Amino acid sequence: MTPDPQSSDRGALEIAERHERAASELIRETELQLYIDGVWVDSIGDARFDVRDPTTGIRLAMAQAGNAADIERAVTAAWRGYETWKTKSPAERQTILTEISDRVEARAEEFARLDSLDNGKPITEARGDIELVVDHFRYFAGAARTLEGKTVPVGRDQHVETIREPYGVVGQIIPWNFPLLMATWKLAPALAAGNAVVLKPAEETPLSLMEFVHEVGDLLPAGALNVVTGYGPEAGASLVEHPRVSKIAFTGSTEVGRGVMKGAANNLTDISLELGGKSPLIVFPDADVNRAVDVAIDAMFYNAGECCCAGTRLFVHDMLREQFVEEFAAAAEALVVGDPLLEKTDIGPKISATQVERTEQYIKLATEVGGQVVTGGGRPTDDRLGRGNFVLPTVIERAPHEARAAQEEIFGPVELVFGWNSYDRLIEQVNDVKFGLAAGIVTDDLTTARRAARDIEVGNVWVNQYNEFPAGQPFGGYKQSGIGRETARETIEAYTRTKTINFRVG
Ligand code: ADP
Repeated sequence: MTPDPQSSDRGALEIAERHERAASELIRETELQLYIDGVWVDSIGDARFDVRDPTTGIRLAMAQAGNAADIERAVTAAWRGYETWKTKSPAERQTILTEISDRVEARAEEFARLDSLDNGKPITEARGDIELVVDHFRYFAGAARTLEGKTVPVGRDQHVETIREPYGVVGQIIPWNFPLLMATWKLAPALAAGNAVVLKPAEETPLSLMEFVHEVGDLLPAGALNVVTGYGPEAGASLVEHPRVSKIAFTGSTEVGRGVMKGAANNLTDISLELGGKSPLIVFPDADVNRAVDVAIDAMFYNAGECCCAGTRLFVHDMLREQFVEEFAAAAEALVVGDPLLEKTDIGPKISATQVERTEQYIKLATEVGGQVVTGGGRPTDDRLGRGNFVLPTVIERAPHEARAAQEEIFGPVELVFGWNSYDRLIEQVNDVKFGLAAGIVTDDLTTARRAARDIEVGNVWVNQYNEFPAGQPFGGYKQSGIGRETARETIEAYTRTKTINFRVG
């Protein structure tokens, strides 16, 4: 059926009007400032950049491109803030972090809508992000009281004890795919451990974090939390290379992560990195196909594939393959692509036109080497969505596993399906990528699940489900997917250092 151009125009207008209304309700200031030393200030330089709505292309706000001098101010303020913050007892820090989670919870719907608007993620998914924000602040509020040292038996004439101390000032760099949640994964443990923070959000998505600071800034001593917006190579790199930043925590692409590691090496600054992935989902022959399809849809198309742990390589046993691919493709086609602010939407726009082009390029690369597009394959034809950065959920079969599209991170809704029939060959292929972030397994057999979970070289394995992130569960990568673990007890410890004190006895 040919779309009626008038009704398409009306549809596009409706989306644009809905977004403009949401923007005027939710965005406090359209000219964002930097947050340094407990106050909103202007950047020392005058470079600015637009923050755009990926659904409509309209400008939501203007942000300041913080520079090296702004980072300098923020680091100095953070050291002052640290002097006060470190005097707070663990119980006081717990109370403050709990209050932060309560305040976010009280305005959860607004934060969710803001992330949906700014990032383009479906509102139903954005709500899940904010629930996790609340949960992680509560978890780390409690964890603030667990930083125990130990005594070490070394002989009668010495008494050795260890204490855990915060680093002081920590620099944190955040990506755009889960704006407030990724900031929380870093902020909550760092503050809980007693550090002060200088944080740089992603250029594309600063809005929810800015609102968060407006909401909770008064709970923290001036300088304990500083936010500098800006470009990665300028504000981000200045933070990484700053000699008085004691630890850097970064989430983003493996390429940029490599540069961050090099930059941190100048001062031997400690780092944690949460990077890219090319995660496998394995369907065993005993699996229930319906359940496997549900898990695969969640693994691949959650957040439009803009997840570092997305299950982008789907290995289905040959016995199920034909039936599975048919049902999986039908389920992918049934996903509603559209305005992320609507309840019915499953797939919103990608963050930028560049990301759309990148995804299309990978689809092309896959088909050039024999990949067959089962469904999707590019942008939707629905004119109402013409102004947004949309890509259809795409399923590709028969591309070789060595193909670039199977080896490199696409960060879009593109699933590559492979068949398998030998377990040993399967594991070989599953591990034959440079990444090692996550994996999924679908089977009813516990022994099979355990064996496979141990054989796959990744930091996180989900069995009969995917994308579950309860606070307390460590998350992080093997191989080129990163260094360190987030969202867990060991994370708060990683924001501290061990000091050893050895007493002479007698
Ligand atoms: P993506 O490819 O998902 O956009 P990036 O790795 O480019 O992810 O960006 C993640 C974060 O890293 C963003 O906040 C970005 O500004 C920042 N960034 C980009 N380049 C650099 C850099 N050279 N040094 C430090 N941070 C950077």
